[in-house]
Amino acid sequence: MSHVFPPSPTVSVPVQGIAERFPVHRIYCVGRNYEEHAKEMGFTGREPPFFFLKPADTIVVAPEGQTAHMPYPSQTSNLHHEIELVVAIGKGGSNITAANAASHIYGYAVGLDMTRRDLQNDMKKQGRPWCIGKGFDHSAPIGTITPAAAAGDIEAANIWLTVNGQERQRSQISQLIWNIGEIIEHLSAAWELQPGDLIYTGTPAGVAAVVQGDTLEGGVDGLAPLKLQIG
Ligand code: MN
Repeated sequence: MSHVFPPSPTVSVPVQGIAERFPVHRIYCVGRNYEEHAKEMGFTGREPPFFFLKPADTIVVAPEGQTAHMPYPSQTSNLHHEIELVVAIGKGGSNITAANAASHIYGYAVGLDMTRRDLQNDMKKQGRPWCIGKGFDHSAPIGTITPAAAAGDIEAANIWLTVNGQERQRSQISQLIWNIGEIIEHLSAAWELQPGDLIYTGTPAGVAAVVQGDTLEGGVDGLAPLKLQIG
């Protein structure tokens, strides 16, 4: 097949222990999925999960042992970090039940749902889409993917983020309002999941701004940590 210009390269993420990379199809994100974060954003209680997407090419790969770089984005003065567990889908499907969700998971990674909070808030006030606040270039840093079998008991893991060595976010995956199986059940009822889909599962409390030069280090027990410098 020929094209009128060269097609974009496939976005991919390294996998721990093997040379083959994980090719990215779509990036789904879950909104407000930890109670303490929902409260800090002005909401309470368990609402049905809701989703937004980022384009696949917003990925910034942060391979284990390296410091990745994310340019400070345009049009914001309030760039927020959101540390998140990322679920990597290896087998697609529709209407997957929570009980069957594990068989669709390839592995897990540490991710950052970087957010132009000022622009997101403007869009929220106007009832407009969040794209400009959430789906901008370089907005989806991700660490090396750990295959599920090597990741240990992810539902019992801690999740944390430091900025310049100071802790900003810390919680446990068990604190997710909608757990991994429930997320996959809800998501696959609305979209047909495909191999290569990534799901950013939501952030715990403590979101705040970063500036040019800041170094972010994030982790989830059992997974490769992520290190990222802004600028
Ligand atoms: Mn998020």
